[in-house]
Amino acid sequence: MDKQIREDLKNIWHPYTQMKDCEFLPPIFIEKAEGIYLYDSKGKQYMDTISSWWCNIHGHCHPHIMRAIKDQTEKLDHVLFAGFTHKEAIKLSSNLLDITGNHIKKVFYSDDGSTAVEAAIKMSFQYWQNTGQKNKTKFVSLDKAYHGDTIGTMSLGGISQYTEIFEPLFYKTYKVPTPYCYRCPMNAEKDNCAFECLKPLKELLAEKHQEIAGLIIEPLLLAAAGMIVYPVEYLDGVGRLAKKFGIHLIVDEVATGFGRTGKMFAHEHSDIVPDFLCISKGLTSGTLPLAVTMTTNEVYDAFYGDYEEGKTFFHGHTYTGNPIACSAANASLEIFKKEKTIDNLHVKINILKENLAKFTTLKYVGDIRQIGLIGAIELVKDKKTKAGFDMDERIGLQIYKKGLEKNIILRPLGNIVYVYLPLVINIDEIKEVLRKLYSIIKEFCEEYKN
Ligand SMILES: *Cc1c(COP(=O)(O)O)cnc(C)c1O
Repeated sequence: MDKQIREDLKNIWHPYTQMKDCEFLPPIFIEKAEGIYLYDSKGKQYMDTISSWWCNIHGHCHPHIMRAIKDQTEKLDHVLFAGFTHKEAIKLSSNLLDITGNHIKKVFYSDDGSTAVEAAIKMSFQYWQNTGQKNKTKFVSLDKAYHGDTIGTMSLGGISQYTEIFEPLFYKTYKVPTPYCYRCPMNAEKDNCAFECLKPLKELLAEKHQEIAGLIIEPLLLAAAGMIVYPVEYLDGVGRLAKKFGIHLIVDEVATGFGRTGKMFAHEHSDIVPDFLCISKGLTSGTLPLAVTMTTNEVYDAFYGDYEEGKTFFHGHTYTGNPIACSAANASLEIFKKEKTIDNLHVKINILKENLAKFTTLKYVGDIRQIGLIGAIELVKDKKTKAGFDMDERIGLQIYKKGLEKNIILRPLGNIVYVYLPLVINIDEIKEVLRKLYSIIKEFCEEYKN
């Protein structure tokens, strides 16, 4: 183990990592990055097929973003955002309002996905308090949802092997079944599906809407749950029910925002009208931490009044609206325009879709899911029963190691192997990623002994 890594392991505690695993799988020391490639200290190249945890968009070290950051550092590093403002935050708010629906009118800054969600939850909660509907204090979410790792956002998420230990700390929320079509909660088949999975939500809202403040949902893709892609009809149904029963619709676009699903925002595939939009990961194209919670004038106005009325939203994070991060986000949005990023996606998405189809014949491939430039393969021990592999078998770890040997970065979510491609990737690179992925899964299927 070289000196730098030894020093890392002596001092650093890495996220989502059993540090003991680093004895046989030390962290990879990345020295530079360009486009979709990362380079380690020995010059070995890796394809960043998961966009460095779902945030990179235009490729690493895109010159336009790097230039914007450099320019900004010569003018203004940071200033508190209560009582002060600056050019980049003003410009970014207007840029964001230009690309979101007409009803979205206000931008509240924070610094990561979890805080964007926390701010939305607190705003929704306080909205009902400020407007005199004091019983509306509960939230609804999907039973496999992921909205972040803070206690407030974990309370909204599904209970997983990662979160169950913290359960005593959670506030009470209502959970409804996730439209996980491969493992349909209502046991429906594709051709006889009438979206019965909306029924539990409808019943819950009919009974409890007077105590429900809002519903939070990841539009069309539950990423952390295992890249679960669900039909737009379900999302439309959720939107209709939220409206009918007078609760807020909080749309968590932290993972799906900025073209990941083929449109700028995933909810644009549907008819829903969000009351809140939570945005982070792709906002700065994966360069600096930044997040926003966007909302309507209706919500905003419920907080507007004389100070003594006690309607103020007392919430804020130290690095709120950081100028350097805002300049990176503005530069990223300029690239979207200049490089016609969204228009160019169509062809790439089709290539991904075509190349994924041939995985079906492999022995342990149970389901193939795809939306935009995201593709996922659910591995199962038995295609008939859909029984998964035991977590203890750590097949994800085997796939991860195979990926590294073939210079691609795969971090499976349990039994789900996926790619979450940076939008800048070109067609040849998509084909290369899928070729490598195919040979890795094929090799796994041949080697695995039941
Ligand atoms: C990653 C993620 C979050 C949390 O974002 P962080 O920046 O990791 O706090 C919230 N919601 C969704 C849908 C996410 O994918």
